[in-house]
Amino acid sequence: MKDRSPLRRAAAGPAKTSALESATLHSAITPAGTPSSEAVRKAGVACVKRLPAYLQMLRVLHGEGQEYVSGTVLATTHSLEPVIVRKDLAVTGIVGMPRRGFRVADLIHAIERFLGWDGQTKAVLLGVGNLGAALLGYRGFENFGLRIAGAFDADPHKVGTWVQGRRVQALSMLVPFARRSSITLGVLTVPAPAAQAAAELLVQAGIHGIWNFTPVKLNLPESVIVQTEDLAQGLAVLSHELRIEHRSGAGKGADQAR
Ligand code: NAD
Repeated sequence: MKDRSPLRRAAAGPAKTSALESATLHSAITPAGTPSSEAVRKAGVACVKRLPAYLQMLRVLHGEGQEYVSGTVLATTHSLEPVIVRKDLAVTGIVGMPRRGFRVADLIHAIERFLGWDGQTKAVLLGVGNLGAALLGYRGFENFGLRIAGAFDADPHKVGTWVQGRRVQALSMLVPFARRSSITLGVLTVPAPAAQAAAELLVQAGIHGIWNFTPVKLNLPESVIVQTEDLAQGLAVLSHELRIEHRSGAGKGADQAR
């Protein structure tokens, strides 16, 4: 069986540090210590998607009391080329130390700062059904700087009830709540037929970032950033890989039987 556990492989990884890690990357951060807009623009989606995985591992290492980590270990752990990891980390403006690598605490802070997870993003959730309630109950979002401050539903039987410690509010309360509470992100977990109108309501409330869990392709102004999540995509990859593995296993068996 293939070992897909990054942490297990990390423990055994070498702790070499490349010259690039120790290169100074001041251009990636502004004098105020925040990522430069150029660095953010250059990062690219693939890099941004990899950063949370590094962060997750770094938090574990930090919890275990490890002080330094090398880019090579991060690369081995995540089955990546070291050059990719070095480029990823460079966008955060972090500077490694020769022969030691990166201070784990500093690297955590740099990645959090780059992703904007060092502050708090306040969100509202629309649609407190099966998925909405599950997301409301997930405390781990706080590790990513996300706090779901309000939950809203169209069902009058749900309005006024408490779900995962949040009081479900009526849709008519959304606009004043979002404006009063400086909400920047909307989590959309309504049924597909209600998705477009619900997204428009979020925009009307001044929200420009929508985390869309519905299968609907939303039609919104260009200024609104929509990130659509689809568990089916991950499942499709898993099913596909299982079938390949099963077939090659069956092939091997057949070969041996001959
Ligand atoms: P659900 O029926 O349990 O919950 C939907 C909730 O939305 C209900 O409480 C309903 O009253 C409320 N609602 C309906 N219209 C609304 C509106 N205009 N504004 C606010 N609330 C409204 O459904 P569910 O199983 O939780 O699924 C919710 C959505 O998530 C669906 O679109 C589903 O396809 C999607 N989904 C996506 C994934 C994924 O992988 N991204 C996984 C599961 C479900």
